[in-house]
Amino acid sequence: MVDTDKSALRTSLLQTRQALTPEQVREGSERIIARIRALPEWKNATEALIYWPIRNEVDLRPLVTELWQRGACVLLPRCRPEKQGEMDLACAACEADLAPGPFSIMEPDAGKCPPVQDCTPDIALIPGVGFDRAGNRLGFGGGYYDRLLSTEQMRKTLKIGIGYGFQMVTAIPAQPWDKPMNLICTDTELWRP
Ligand code: ADP
Ligand code: MG
Repeated sequence: MVDTDKSALRTSLLQTRQALTPEQVREGSERIIARIRALPEWKNATEALIYWPIRNEVDLRPLVTELWQRGACVLLPRCRPEKQGEMDLACAACEADLAPGPFSIMEPDAGKCPPVQDCTPDIALIPGVGFDRAGNRLGFGGGYYDRLLSTEQMRKTLKIGIGYGFQMVTAIPAQPWDKPMNLICTDTELWRP
């Protein structure tokens, strides 16, 4: 029952996101970047988990560049080839360190960037398909971030869900393994659940 609810919501939200124009993506992303830049936790971050966008996701690449410029550690997830649903974190030093992974998402190249096990990111900017005001997050349906965020190294990390205003919905049918966000940042608001 809950799974059906989740997948119908996922399909509908993804359709809306797919229909955004490049201008809407750019304007929404710029507003979100401005909100993130204003956070003291962003200004102080020395290790940040972030993502490289696909399919009209909010484009935070200017923030990735900013982290590189200030010498911070840019952690990006990389799917584990042998373990479906699991991701390692690896530190990329520049765009040339990235290569397309299994879902065509740009990931740190395994030949250049070893997995980092001992990092405890200060901040995590987490893409989502949907969020609600209780902090629940809906992903692509693989549970990848739920598994990653349940690790000890992510326990103290400030977890910020990133999406457009329309992705903030009345309720996400959360399941026991779903990991909530500490903050949700959209182009229309910064929400503290
Ligand atoms: P998403 O968060 O990507 O929207 P779901 O929350 O529906 O996806 O989770 C997808 C699958 O991943 C579920 O079948 C769930 O059992 C599994 N899963 C999620 N988190 C964990 C975890 N920490 N350990 C094991 N399995 C997990
Ligand atoms: Mg989940």
